[in-house]
Amino acid sequence: MNGADMVLSMRTANNKEPINCREQSTKSLWRGIVSFWGQEGQRLKAPVEHQPCGLVLVCEHASNRFVTPWGTLGLDTETTTSHIAWDLGALRLAKKLAANLAPITGGTVLIHAPLSRLIYDLNRSPDQQDAMPDQSEAYAIPGNKSLGLTQRLERTRSLYLPFHTSVHEEICRILAQGKRPLLLTIHSFTPVYNGKQRDVEFGVIHDTDDTLAKAIVTAASRSNLDTRLNEPYSARDGVTHTLKLHATPYNLAHAMLEIRNDLLTNSQTEAKVTRQLTEILTTAFQSPGVPSCLAS
Ligand SMILES: [Zn+2]
Repeated sequence: MNGADMVLSMRTANNKEPINCREQSTKSLWRGIVSFWGQEGQRLKAPVEHQPCGLVLVCEHASNRFVTPWGTLGLDTETTTSHIAWDLGALRLAKKLAANLAPITGGTVLIHAPLSRLIYDLNRSPDQQDAMPDQSEAYAIPGNKSLGLTQRLERTRSLYLPFHTSVHEEICRILAQGKRPLLLTIHSFTPVYNGKQRDVEFGVIHDTDDTLAKAIVTAASRSNLDTRLNEPYSARDGVTHTLKLHATPYNLAHAMLEIRNDLLTNSQTEAKVTRQLTEILTTAFQSPGVPSCLAS
């Protein structure tokens, strides 16, 4: 056995039956999936040259896809379709916001995750233990138990680096064309966490610059959404990695949006929340103090 071809003997979540999870070296690079919307809100195959987007959206927890060589990490279907594997409804919402906001921002780009966050949580740095968690809420993740350094490095190279290179490329492409985009990350959260009910419906979280986040909360105060700044998480919980990596170094106005997922799993409430968020963000983008990302 060598470091690049390891057979792990593990136990399943209920700890009754041993399973084998073969984790081997992969040459696959899982880049972010990149989509573009033009000034009329239409989907584009590629960005329009010399018309840089004013808004970059990132959805790090968009997918519950599991692939070889990691497989399902020893999890059953109920778990791989639950909120611990991905952010329910977040990608659908991100795509709709990208289309709705493109006309006022001169175009949008969305970069989203190709695989489940349980293989690698793309909103975590490689030194954060929960980048590859062996426990998420009440669920044990057998395929992440006792991961060796070789395995952590392999996943970092396969997933984390290609994904964040994709985000960096899009931001640099826009900056090089003379525009300073806003950066929004789109997430959803479970209404009940560790048995505790959460009342907040819309959380707005920021890294070091709170300008855009506060403008969004102010704009949302005119809606009936229960909106709170830095809830249900904040930068102190280590959840602003993407913002720290891509927004803060370039002084880009930014926010992480967290929507309670019960509002996104029903088509009626989803349509209503999408409308509300489009209005809230449109107002916030035009607020005093927020750097302009508007279409020229
Ligand atoms: Zn998330």
